[in-house]
Amino acid sequence: MVDLVIEGCTVLVHGEDGEIRFVEDAAVVVRDGLVDAVTSAREAADLPAAERLDARGQLAMPGLINCHVHTPMVALRGIAEDLPVEEWFNDWIWPIESNLTDRVVELGAQLACAEMIQGGVTTFADHYFSMDRVAAAVVESGLRANLGWAYFSSQGPEGREQSLDFALRMRGAADGRITTSLAPHAPYTVEDADLEATAELAREHGLLVHIHAAENRAQTDNSLERYGRTPIEVLRRAGLLDVDLLIAHGTGITEKDLPLLQHGTGRIAVASAPRGYLKFAWDSTTPIRGLAAAGIPVGLATDGAASNSTLDVWESMALTALVQKSTEHDPTWLTARQALDHATTQSARAVGLGEQIGALAPGRRADLILVDLTGPHVQPLHDTAAALVHSARSSDVRTTVVDGRILMKDRRLLTLNVPTIVAELTAELPALTERRHGRRIQEYEG
Ligand SMILES: [Zn+2]
Repeated sequence: MVDLVIEGCTVLVHGEDGEIRFVEDAAVVVRDGLVDAVTSAREAADLPAAERLDARGQLAMPGLINCHVHTPMVALRGIAEDLPVEEWFNDWIWPIESNLTDRVVELGAQLACAEMIQGGVTTFADHYFSMDRVAAAVVESGLRANLGWAYFSSQGPEGREQSLDFALRMRGAADGRITTSLAPHAPYTVEDADLEATAELAREHGLLVHIHAAENRAQTDNSLERYGRTPIEVLRRAGLLDVDLLIAHGTGITEKDLPLLQHGTGRIAVASAPRGYLKFAWDSTTPIRGLAAAGIPVGLATDGAASNSTLDVWESMALTALVQKSTEHDPTWLTARQALDHATTQSARAVGLGEQIGALAPGRRADLILVDLTGPHVQPLHDTAAALVHSARSSDVRTTVVDGRILMKDRRLLTLNVPTIVAELTAELPALTERRHGRRIQEYEG
């Protein structure tokens, strides 16, 4: 007896060479939280199962992965719009974040998890404060996550120690759904000595390091002016390119940085969240073509909702395809299949789970979504890959499954109650958004 059979659907699978293929009239068999088989609907028809889902007209694919997010920042969605990044940080975000409470962090993380489950996200990599509260939201929601407790050098050694303590204490929690990372904020807020110590700890404990770096061109220019080195060169000198490293954004990565990333001995990846770059009117985006040539995977992300407005990774997938075409002046670059590769295989590698998730294949975790392909905005279906990337929307995700457990069924959330979360969070907002005290947790100079 298997746990779950999803039958009658099209299934997105990866061939031996990693090529994305679509199997029609298929079934996904789930046992003990794992994909047991991807087979034909006919083969699965008589299989004894605890639960069956009729998925005719739908497509099963690996759940989306949000490779860089600050989930509790949904509490600040829309609070500081149409601003340059300096004012956004210094006048709004960092003053408000000095008011954060554990309760706000937990409610924000719960709301973010609800939004992501509805948008077809099954795993997220979070980088924030009070991460025990985010971990609690992961347990409650049923999602998978890589969690890192953020720190600045201005906190003294305690910041780094807290990040390490959390990473060691919580890895493997939530029945293994929680993995952890060390989370220095960025090279411009964490000093070289702290970055070096972080690399040492990552090596000693086998931990991923998740950091913002070369977020935009201005940061790279400022770093060159101040230290004579790009942010990527700063990471290299600290030893961070020789440990497993997840770099958020990297839109300021230069041509000369690419060989450094290529020759780093760690598993290095970049997370790209293009909506925020467009909103901040940055003059570059993540250089995916150069990174691909250097063998660096690029995962999809949203960043926090305070800058990105949504945690919609589906939208990040479509925007990545469009922005890359526009930036490279090349309509043949970043095809729909490439975009799906970023959304699946490359995102899984970026969060350090390249062997566990990112594909529907026997032995992988059963993290999958069912997407309705019958809508008028998707039909007729000449090219399933193009339909997914450019026609379908996150709201077409009907069902979300993590570790074989159904978290959303036919658009109904099964683990979280949004009206209750929103009501409680709304009551906390006046105290959260108070800025007259003049405090801020950091200074943005980039
Ligand atoms: Zn970020």
